[in-house]
Amino acid sequence: MILTPRQQKFRDAARKLADEQLSKDAARIDKEAAFPEAGLRAMAELGLCGMTVPKEYGGEDLDALAICLVTEELARGCPSTAAVLMAYVIGIQPLVQFGTPAQKQAYLPDLAKAKRSICFAVTEAHTGSDVSAISTTAQRSGEGWVLNGIKCLIGNGVGADLCIVAAKTDPAAGHKGVSVFVVETATPGFSTSAVYEKMGMRGTTTAELTLKNVKVPATALVGEVGKGSGYLLKTLDLARLTLAAEAIGLAQAALEESVAYAKLRVTFGKRIAEYQGIQFMIADMATSVYAARTMLHDACALHDRNEPFNVEASMVKLFASEMAGRVTDLAVQIHGGWGVVDRPKVERLFRDARYTRIWEGTSEIQRLIISRCVLDKGGK
Ligand SMILES: Cc1cc2nc3c(=O)[nH]c(=O)nc-3n(C[C@H](O)[C@H](O)[C@H](O)COP(=O)(O)OP(=O)(O)OC[C@H]3O[C@@H](n4cnc5c(N)ncnc54)[C@H](O)[C@@H]3O)c2cc1C
Repeated sequence: MILTPRQQKFRDAARKLADEQLSKDAARIDKEAAFPEAGLRAMAELGLCGMTVPKEYGGEDLDALAICLVTEELARGCPSTAAVLMAYVIGIQPLVQFGTPAQKQAYLPDLAKAKRSICFAVTEAHTGSDVSAISTTAQRSGEGWVLNGIKCLIGNGVGADLCIVAAKTDPAAGHKGVSVFVVETATPGFSTSAVYEKMGMRGTTTAELTLKNVKVPATALVGEVGKGSGYLLKTLDLARLTLAAEAIGLAQAALEESVAYAKLRVTFGKRIAEYQGIQFMIADMATSVYAARTMLHDACALHDRNEPFNVEASMVKLFASEMAGRVTDLAVQIHGGWGVVDRPKVERLFRDARYTRIWEGTSEIQRLIISRCVLDKGGK
């Protein structure tokens, strides 16, 4: 793949950051479940917080391939730090794609420079996959709206200045009754009420958000009333590409760690890298990473040519996240007992990889999207 100078510049900057800073702090971040403050600052300095924001609002307006090259490198260094950036970008996207000029002017310049932060709140206790089943409501009140509901499992939810909230403006209308609002979290009635303990991706914060009679002006509505489900799906299409990049980056890290270990570890008088059993595991890992990366770059090319890419986004998200599970599992196996005690890198990557099959639509939801399209088109 031939990269443009700009794609190369951002990929190289992310690679340098991953190698020189993020990878060195990743174990501590995991152990202490510490938010990667320094990593976020460094990413902001490189312009990565605004990588999807148009230039007129102070962003970098990168294409999907550049965004995914950057995400893969960051995830290779520290999956949690990359995930913090991904959640940030998902929050920004509804404003970039569907926001009014006034909303863009009010929020995007600060978000692009990480002067303010944002989260994206759809999931509730009883529903994550089925957006049409949310029960958070937005009722008209004078010129504005009043929001009520509880959002669960919200990434970057702790300390966010802004929150993209999916709410029902017409509870009887199913997915056509969903609208999207941009809510300033300092608004009375908005609170962060729980933070979850996590198995992996421990540097990310994941919170429960309560909206109790939160009054927002009419200008908080993103796009049009009742079009929220479509906006969320479109936001998730790009998010699935970046999620695949995250999975590929962490699988690449597991592969590199396994190769280094296999060349050092001696059993029966030989380095384990000399055994065909280990060589075949490494061959399978490298082939899987390559296949996922090639799929991802192809799906990015569709996006960047403005061609439909949503099914390919689901395919690559499904393939890359399941691949990351298999590759990190093999990485732990290559490390033997030392792969499962005292938190070695491959064990952390194995735990982090598990999240990629759940975020941005589970593997089952991706299969629903893919099979629906393939069946409709007679398998072509
Ligand atoms: C760390 C973390 C961070 C998160 N961050 C955010 C965030 O920032 N914003 C946000 O809105 N959400 C966030 N989520 C929530 C996440 O998007 C949901 O957990 C995910 O979409 C799945 O929803 P659920 O947990 O309700 O599972 P459910 O929807 O209840 O699904 C349960 C199981 O049933 C399967 N299933 C469901 N429907 C079908 C079907 N039709 N056919 C076959 N199988 C099906 C699912 O695949 C899954 O295996 C986060 C979650 C985690 C763990």
